[in-house]
Amino acid sequence: MATPPTIGVRNYDIPALRELDVAHHLPAQSSYKLQQDLGGSRIITHAQGSTIYDGEGHAILDGMAGLWCVNVGYGRPELAEVAARQMEELPFYNTFFRTATVPPIELATKLAGLLGGKLQHVFFNNSGSESNDTVFRLVRTYWGLKGEPNRTVFISRHNAYHGSTVASASLGGMTFMHAQGGLPIPGIEHVMQPYPFGEGFGEDPEAFATRAAQAIEDRILAVGPENVAAFIGEPVQGAGGVIIPPPGYWQKVEAICRKYGILLVSDEVICGFGRLGEWFGFQHYGISPDIVSMAKGLSSGYLPISATGVSSEIVEVLRASGEEFVHGYTYSGHPVSAAVALRNLQIIEDEHLVDRVREDVGPYLNAALQRLADQPLVGEVRSIGLLGAVEIVAEKGTNKRHGTGGQAGPIVRDHCIAGGLMVRAIRDSIVMSPPLVITHEEIDRLVGIIGAALDASMEQLA
Ligand code: PLP
Repeated sequence: MATPPTIGVRNYDIPALRELDVAHHLPAQSSYKLQQDLGGSRIITHAQGSTIYDGEGHAILDGMAGLWCVNVGYGRPELAEVAARQMEELPFYNTFFRTATVPPIELATKLAGLLGGKLQHVFFNNSGSESNDTVFRLVRTYWGLKGEPNRTVFISRHNAYHGSTVASASLGGMTFMHAQGGLPIPGIEHVMQPYPFGEGFGEDPEAFATRAAQAIEDRILAVGPENVAAFIGEPVQGAGGVIIPPPGYWQKVEAICRKYGILLVSDEVICGFGRLGEWFGFQHYGISPDIVSMAKGLSSGYLPISATGVSSEIVEVLRASGEEFVHGYTYSGHPVSAAVALRNLQIIEDEHLVDRVREDVGPYLNAALQRLADQPLVGEVRSIGLLGAVEIVAEKGTNKRHGTGGQAGPIVRDHCIAGGLMVRAIRDSIVMSPPLVITHEEIDRLVGIIGAALDASMEQLA
């Protein structure tokens, strides 16, 4: 087990903080009634490696790398040092009106090299949601300047997650999010997701891949190809439940986009920076998107930053028009965030973390998860790189859920947390996305805790 860091850890008055949390703090994506009923949020005070520590002193193995983002693990002094140095040299200057600072130029150059091919240009934002808002405006601007202004429609998938702002939540396919705020905004079409366990159970994987891709083509034809601007998708849907598409799906999607001249957008906010054992998910699937959204692992969450990778062809159209792209954020290309991101990428390279996921810990997690397959509640275990899911079912050998569905995940998750493991419940599944530095011993522990949590949940789920 990682040793708790002592330097910089203060003696917090946790009960008082929890009271203040209820009195004043509105945490993200939370029920404020539940926050109040539970007497405040869980307070995390410090972390090291793959372990987080809460205010009561519990060590919790972080099976989620924060929020799918702390790829290099916690407690990296080199990232703190680079931030401090940049803050002293130049804490802020903007990138509006053709201004730049040094770190975003260097980071854009680095990313262009990692993305490769036609993806040679990078626009910076602060979050994955903002990157997808940039995609939304950039794509429509591009088609307008190219003389095809009717191409405004985006095609996405049900249960996709692309963020929480108005445009990115609309691009996403989470109906419970759409229900708040009157979303989606017009011009976004959602089609079936490539979810073999949920929507293609018992179906031949190739036939299912064809059916799921065909849904995209059918919608393009229904909308009229001349009206469709882009298709956006996560290589593997993360927040939707670690939904791994069947083999061949992405090749078919790419071919459909090319057939109708539609831009292909890969949302790499979770899949990027080694999570699938390649720098980017699109590289794992061997496809060539026109635009890429990146965030999370870009800085391993040490500071907020996101990036939108853009093809040379799109930039050429903007250049030829002579028009300004009237879009940007105060903190686009923030020098401190960019400097930290650059150093983070160097750590990933120096420690060969992408190879490590592909050749070592990814296969190790996959094999370890198989130990859960015979547990009576388990319908399926699946993983790709360091993304994994355990599906919980009411009847072994089927995909039938307990009750009305959605209750099983939280029950098992709560047992996991009580057992010292942070995982996420997504409806009737438990998902994981640990730091890329997780050790074999930690993976064994992670799987052991999930197994014990499943056993402990049997009675509640009888
Ligand atoms: N896109 C994907 C695929 C994500 O998983 C997320 C966040 O989980 C986002 C976009 C939004 O990123 P952010 O929360 O940084 O706005």
